[in-house]
Amino acid sequence: MQDACPHPAYPEQMQPLVDRYGRVATDLRVSLTDRCNLRCSYCMPAEGLDWMPTADQLTDDEVVRLITVAIERLGVREVRFTGGEPLVRRGLVDVVGRTRAIDPGVELSITTNGIGLARTAGALADAGLDRVNVSLDTVRPDTFLEITRRDRFNDVVEGLAAAERSGLGPVKVNAVLLRGLNDDQAPELLRWCLDRGYQLRFIEQMPLDAQHGWSREGMVTADEIFAHLDGEFSLTPATEPRGSAPAELFLVDGGPATVGVIASVTRPFCGDCDRVRLTADGQVRNCLFAREESDLRAAMRNGATDAELAERWLAAMAGKAAGHGIDDPTFLQPDRPMSAIGG
Ligand code: SAM
Ligand code: SF4
Repeated sequence: MQDACPHPAYPEQMQPLVDRYGRVATDLRVSLTDRCNLRCSYCMPAEGLDWMPTADQLTDDEVVRLITVAIERLGVREVRFTGGEPLVRRGLVDVVGRTRAIDPGVELSITTNGIGLARTAGALADAGLDRVNVSLDTVRPDTFLEITRRDRFNDVVEGLAAAERSGLGPVKVNAVLLRGLNDDQAPELLRWCLDRGYQLRFIEQMPLDAQHGWSREGMVTADEIFAHLDGEFSLTPATEPRGSAPAELFLVDGGPATVGVIASVTRPFCGDCDRVRLTADGQVRNCLFAREESDLRAAMRNGATDAELAERWLAAMAGKAAGHGIDDPTFLQPDRPMSAIGG
């Protein structure tokens, strides 16, 4: 369990986001939009989704205000912008810059599919972004088209290179393996990332797709991922402790390069969770799998003070469940899909 990060800048008004199990949330995931320019089959249907009406979405000012509350009053030390696809949000660079201005010590990153990153990586770095995580499940253009339903492989590759050039490193690559589609491509994806100095992390597929197509039997498990890599690479556990980081890290062929596996389903890390989420329409979610949300947008638009917003946020955290409960027979997938929560 990670201690609450000391926060010398705001000692008096600071109340850490502690839940009833003593976990402290210091890592805020901010979804900037539920829209996306890809249609990854494990995330959303081919026809897309009914996007959130613009009036429901937080404005840039509202996003920055809530992030300020999180940093100055609730001890958040890491902010990650996500979505949907955060690069399609017009105000992204400005929101990053204004978040950086709140506190130069907070770690800022984005999770993106990389489309358009070639154009914006420099501006994002200049605005104060520290790092990017780019999602890429295959290095074969035809498999990319099959998984994402869009022919944009080269845009992602160019985005990755631009991120590296702009100093947004270490560049991390997130990959989901799908049975019969790309699970046999794990070694070539790792080789490709190693050759370019990108840190690859495989993520187990979770029951968060809009079309509810996930099944325990259908998902590729961490054990299977290791088996796929085993023939080509020797993996040994990296010595650094995993802590609240979801990825278990392994040295590749003795290191120093590593590969990560995020086994959210088969090796849950909920006991060490330090995350909290804010949706693009201003709902606090204390867990990806939460079935309840706390509406900060309505409170804010009804005139709540920063102190009142912080109180609401604290109350929302108190109800965080011990674990995601995917293996529980009573498990129910949340109403919002991953793309509308913010992955
Ligand atoms: N559009 C951006 C992207 O793809 O990186 C950010 C949002 S996306 C929802 C964030 C991450 O969630 C991506 O790495 C994506 O691969 C992953 N993801 C989406 N659906 C998932 C699922 N059902 N299970 C596991 N990971 C998923
Ligand atoms: Fe879009 Fe990311 Fe979902 Fe793919 S995983 S459809 S890129 S939100």
